[in-house]
Amino acid sequence: MSNKEKKLFGKFRKKKKDIVISRPYNVTHDIHVDFNSETGFTGLPKQWESLLKTSGITKEEVHQNPDAVLDVLEFQNKPTMKGQKKQEAQPTNTTNVQRKLDTLISKEDPNQLFTGLKKIGEGSTGSVYVATHKATGKQVALKIMGEFIQQNMKVVENEIAMMRSSKHKNVVEYIGSYLTGDSLWVAMEYMDGGSLTEIVSICKMSEPQIAAVCKEILRALNYIHGLNRIHRDIKSDNVLLSTKGEVKLADFGYCAQLTDEVTKRNSVVGTPYWMAPELIRGQDYGVKVDIWSLGILMVEMAEGEPPYLDYPPLRALFLIATHGPPDLKEPDSWSSEFKDFMAKCLEKEVTSRATADQLLRHPFIRKACSLRGLIPLVHKAKENQTNLDDI
Ligand code: ATP
Repeated sequence: MSNKEKKLFGKFRKKKKDIVISRPYNVTHDIHVDFNSETGFTGLPKQWESLLKTSGITKEEVHQNPDAVLDVLEFQNKPTMKGQKKQEAQPTNTTNVQRKLDTLISKEDPNQLFTGLKKIGEGSTGSVYVATHKATGKQVALKIMGEFIQQNMKVVENEIAMMRSSKHKNVVEYIGSYLTGDSLWVAMEYMDGGSLTEIVSICKMSEPQIAAVCKEILRALNYIHGLNRIHRDIKSDNVLLSTKGEVKLADFGYCAQLTDEVTKRNSVVGTPYWMAPELIRGQDYGVKVDIWSLGILMVEMAEGEPPYLDYPPLRALFLIATHGPPDLKEPDSWSSEFKDFMAKCLEKEVTSRATADQLLRHPFIRKACSLRGLIPLVHKAKENQTNLDDI
């Protein structure tokens, strides 16, 4: 693949992940299945019918798993516009949220605090810049959100509150939030090595390197889960590295706080290809959805991309919900420790799926190389990025 093709592929990959996510409709599953019809079902709402026709799900699959097909149709049903991706459909008391947000935002003018802004990334919520913090002379990352905040105040408030109160060496450090004009600036630690996605799409990672990344992410998850929180968007795009080989978890836009009263969630949020079956099926779920996503992250590190990325999203969701991920493409290339660790993450039965704490004590983690062993990967990805920028 040429660099240009890689760049195009990168765009396609990013676009494919911005998939519709919405709260399920409250439907019952006692639908009469007519196997003489074109899709396998009769009596489906028109919109569902056309979704199913283009989904790539076969009539035989409808026949074998009608409930799972209905679950993924519910999941995919409501269209979501770019920028709404992180929204959980729930009534919002704007005044309360505004008040809470006010307490989180500094009154200082960010234009006086930061200088030399240079764009380094773009997300669905805004653009990310690297800049110099005048007071310390240190580089920081600034996420600047414009229009997004007006319609998504609750989401922004949640992201800031979660980031601010998650202090761990494997979580990207929050520095502060500032309002200027209609824009909200969120300042955080700058990770100069870029995201893990840039690495997995061009490098072949060894088992000790994969184990090292898993170990660092598990440390972050063990901490977050200990606070009774679910990250809900574990994927290579949200794992950032430094040129020293440090590995940190970012993007708390989907993070959910569980409480003594609310010990499970059922809203459908996250990024489809990384989502756990129980979440896709609209069932109650807890912190173990992050462990499933870590298993998918391992597939990314081993094979360059998550399973089913080339399938139409609906079929991918259906396959995850019914079969889980496919076998590794080259199973003989991986050690038994690697495969056992992955199987413990990708266990469909939630109660049998391992916890972050258990996985940290798994023999596979003992294979981890030092953080210095990750530096060549960071350099290679950065070199590739520079070449792409030159095209
Ligand atoms: P998404 O569409 O994934 O939800 P978003 O609007 O939440 O995106 P981020 O994913 O947080 O935005 O950031 C977009 C990109 O900016 C990332 O993919 C990453 O490459 C870069 N980036 C974000 N935060 C940092 C950071 N602290 N240090 C270095 N680069 C960063």
